[in-house]
Amino acid sequence: MKPKSYKQENLILKSENLKVLIGEDGNIMSLIDKKNDIDFVRRNNVFRKDGLSVWVKEGFVGRDPDGFLSHKFSDITFVEPFVRKENSKVIIEKNKNDEKLEILYDLKDYLEIFINLKNLGKRKFKQLEFFFSWELPSETNILIPGEDRYFRYIVPPFGRIITRYFEFKNKPIYIIRPDKIGIKLEFSSLLKYVIYNRGKMCVVGGFTKIKRIDKNKSISENIKISLHKSKDIKTIFKKQDFIFPELLQKPYFKKRYIHLSLYYKRVDLKQFFKIIKNLNKIGYNGVILGIGKGMKYKSYPQLNEEWSYSQDEMREIKDYINFLGMEIIPEFPTLGHQNDTNLVKVDPSLVEDPKNPFVYCTSNPKTYEVIFSVLEEIIDIFKPKIMHLTHDEVQHWFSERRMGICDRCKNKKLWEIYSEDVNKLHSFLSKKKCKYVSLGRYAS
Ligand SMILES: [Zn+2]
Repeated sequence: MKPKSYKQENLILKSENLKVLIGEDGNIMSLIDKKNDIDFVRRNNVFRKDGLSVWVKEGFVGRDPDGFLSHKFSDITFVEPFVRKENSKVIIEKNKNDEKLEILYDLKDYLEIFINLKNLGKRKFKQLEFFFSWELPSETNILIPGEDRYFRYIVPPFGRIITRYFEFKNKPIYIIRPDKIGIKLEFSSLLKYVIYNRGKMCVVGGFTKIKRIDKNKSISENIKISLHKSKDIKTIFKKQDFIFPELLQKPYFKKRYIHLSLYYKRVDLKQFFKIIKNLNKIGYNGVILGIGKGMKYKSYPQLNEEWSYSQDEMREIKDYINFLGMEIIPEFPTLGHQNDTNLVKVDPSLVEDPKNPFVYCTSNPKTYEVIFSVLEEIIDIFKPKIMHLTHDEVQHWFSERRMGICDRCKNKKLWEIYSEDVNKLHSFLSKKKCKYVSLGRYAS
C-alpha cells in the first residue's frame, strides 16, 4: 500500500553541493555531487534498487554477542514503506505487528540518515543491519580506518569477490575515485563493517550492537554522507602509510605468485609494468617469469627471435619487479617444450625429432652445453633463488612417443632418460646455489 501523495519528483532533496533522490522503496536512488556532476549511486544509466538497504534482525544471542544476532529477519524488513516528504526531510515509515521502523533523510551540507526501530510489544533482542551499494570505477580507493591506521583497498581492474570485516570506532570511511572525487561516510555506533567487491561493485555495510529492547524503547543508528574534502585525505596520508588489508589479514597463501610468459611475443614494457603494478596492488608478491626465447642470449644467438628482449631490457624488468618488492622465479623449459626455445636452430641433433622439436636429446652432451650456458645467462641477470624448469608434458600417454626416439636414446628406458636429465640439471643448479621447481612428470 502506498500513500496517495507519493510522487517520485517530490522525493528530491537539494543542498548547495548535493542532490539526493529517494526512491519509492525508501532507498537512495541517486546521490549527486552537483559541482562535479557525479552520481555516486546511479549505475549504467539505470537506477539501482539497492542504494541503501536496512534489515531488522531478531532472535536470540548466539555465541558471539558482538556479531550477528541471527539469520532471522523481522517481518518488518519486507514490508512496503510509506514514503513522504515533510519540509526539507524525506521520511520512510514501516509498520508491522509490534514494530515501527523509521528512516529519516535530512539534507544539510551533508546527508544525514537517521534509522530508528521502535518496539511496541514485549521486550526482545533486536539488531539493525544495513548496506550501501555503489558501482565504482577501477582504481577507486576505499579507505577504511583501523585501530591505529587507515587501510587502503583499491578496486581492481578486473572482477573478483572479496568479503572483509573491519572493526573500528567512529572514524569515517572514504571512497575516493581515481579523479580524486569522493565521499565520506560516518556511522554513529557501529561495531563492524563489511566490504564486498564483486567486480567493480562495492557494498559498505554495518550492524548495530545486539540490544534487548523494552516495550516503547528504540534501537537507532545515525549515518552521515558528505563529499570528501581533499585536505582530509592529505591529513590521513601524512599520518601514516596505508597498508593493504589483504596482506595484513593473514592471507591463506604466503606466496602469491602470478605466471607471466614473455616467450610468445613482445609486449609493450610500459603496459607490462602497469599490469604487474596492479597485480602487486591486489596482493600478488611474486612473478614466475617465462623467459624461453623471449630473451636475447649471447652464447647461442640462434635461440633468439628478432623481437626477443635484450638483456638490458630483462634487467629493467627484473629491477622493476624487485622494486615492487616482488620475487622473480625465472622459467626456462627443459627436456620438453623446446618449441619455446628454438634449440633445434642451434643444431638439429640436440632434439629427438627435428621435424617436431619438442624434446631435447639427453644423450647428446652438446645439449647440456647449450642449456647450461643459457641457464647461466639467466641466473647472471636475475640472480634467482629458485628457477622454474618447466619439465612438463614431455610424453603424453595418449600421443606418439616423443622421448627416446633418436639413435642415441632409443635403447634407453624412459625413466632412465628422465632421471638422467633431472640429475644433470640438479647437479648444475646446486653448484650455482639455485633451487628449482618443475611441473614435470614424463607422462602427463
Ligand atoms: Zn636422444
